[in-house]
Amino acid sequence: MDEKSWSARAETVSMFGFTDLPSIESRGTIVLTHGEGPYVIDTQGRRWLDANSGLWNMVAGFDHKGLTEAAKAQYDRFPGYHAFFGRMSDQTVMLSEKLVEVSPFPRGKVFYTNSGSEANDTMVKMLWFLHRAEGNPNRRKILTRWNAYHGVTAVSASMTGKPYNEVFGLPLPGFIHLTCPHFWREGKPGESESEFVARLAAELEEVIAREGADTIAGFFAEPVQGAGGVIPPAQGYFQALVPILRKHGIPVISDEVICGFGRTGSTWGCETYGFTPDAIISSKNLTAGFFPMGAVILGPELSDRLDAAIAPIEEFPHGFTASGHPVGCAIALKAIDVVMNEGLAQNVIDKAPRMEAGLRDIMQRHENIGELRGVGFMWALEAVKDAETRQPFPPHLSVSERIANTCTDLGLICRPLGQSIVLCPPFILTDAQMDEMFQKLDRALEQVF
Ligand code: PLP
Repeated sequence: MDEKSWSARAETVSMFGFTDLPSIESRGTIVLTHGEGPYVIDTQGRRWLDANSGLWNMVAGFDHKGLTEAAKAQYDRFPGYHAFFGRMSDQTVMLSEKLVEVSPFPRGKVFYTNSGSEANDTMVKMLWFLHRAEGNPNRRKILTRWNAYHGVTAVSASMTGKPYNEVFGLPLPGFIHLTCPHFWREGKPGESESEFVARLAAELEEVIAREGADTIAGFFAEPVQGAGGVIPPAQGYFQALVPILRKHGIPVISDEVICGFGRTGSTWGCETYGFTPDAIISSKNLTAGFFPMGAVILGPELSDRLDAAIAPIEEFPHGFTASGHPVGCAIALKAIDVVMNEGLAQNVIDKAPRMEAGLRDIMQRHENIGELRGVGFMWALEAVKDAETRQPFPPHLSVSERIANTCTDLGLICRPLGQSIVLCPPFILTDAQMDEMFQKLDRALEQVF
């Protein structure tokens, strides 16, 4: 038996992704063994309220019996399959029916992946395939926004608008990033919110004119940018941009990997922000984090056009070994039921005002918090050196990391993103747990500032 601590064992054999290595060096790795509701517990019995919902996904908490029962029952019944060669599981069919039913589309079709990155990647391939088949092989460029997060595969990382992808030589050519719709940060001095939106709409028109509409395959957007630091769009943003995209025949894809299934207070983020996309990308909440799974949900126009494009070659040559895995589908069916019919989505709607009020209170007590932004159960507090001028702290001070690390010491997990602290708790959060989150965050801010 290895006598080393769990932390040392983890560090010996793990290559860490998306992890601040100096923090690991000074603080060690937390090795978790189980969870209770919104809490996670480690090998030493230490306990944290996870206001990060794992990674936005554990919306029903970490020990939801209905979800584990659904998984066990399906493992007993039929543990594995894919969704091609003319065979798929009954659970896969039922989930696709459910997804079309709860989608904003009157009808549509579903394609399964193992993750959100793969779902975005799949959607790009579908668009490239479609445009080629329709005689527009040059329609390959993808429009996204700075600060967007769409995943880590070579294509979805190219769609992601984060400078850290430069270390991979990404983005690939042909991925064009428009201005991030964050009015507080991106608005010019003296510019009103509606003027800001008009500027972003004009930018889109200019980019389309410069590149040529006949070279653009599609536009991808998260309704609220999540990993960019919880950035709800400026008011009227989608209402201004979507008609321009439609005018130029550019499909609009809503990446609902975080926003889908209740996070913003509606089933879909696009519903919260009043636009209907041509397709939806789903993952994370789709299975309440109990199974790795992603889905492309195509609306009627794209599914009809894809059907017509596939017909002459008689096959769409794409799919993953575990596409439409029956255990994942059984869990997703249960998760959708739990979130939508057992009060979880309603809890987000009911408690979002309380969450906003509590965080606003915290912001008012700490002059180094410059902005509170969010919706539903996804919020961020942005730390600034000077709230008046919005001057950020120098990055080397790692202020948000220090806040998050102090929260961890106090028994609260929250995520540092840029200069912001993100709070996206599970949908099951009670008032008492929300108060615990406020108190611990408040104490952490007192200690850091
Ligand atoms: N799209 C969005 C909006 C996301 O937030 C994420 C992950 O955080 C992804 C796509 C990628 O999903 P995955 O990590 O499952 O590949």
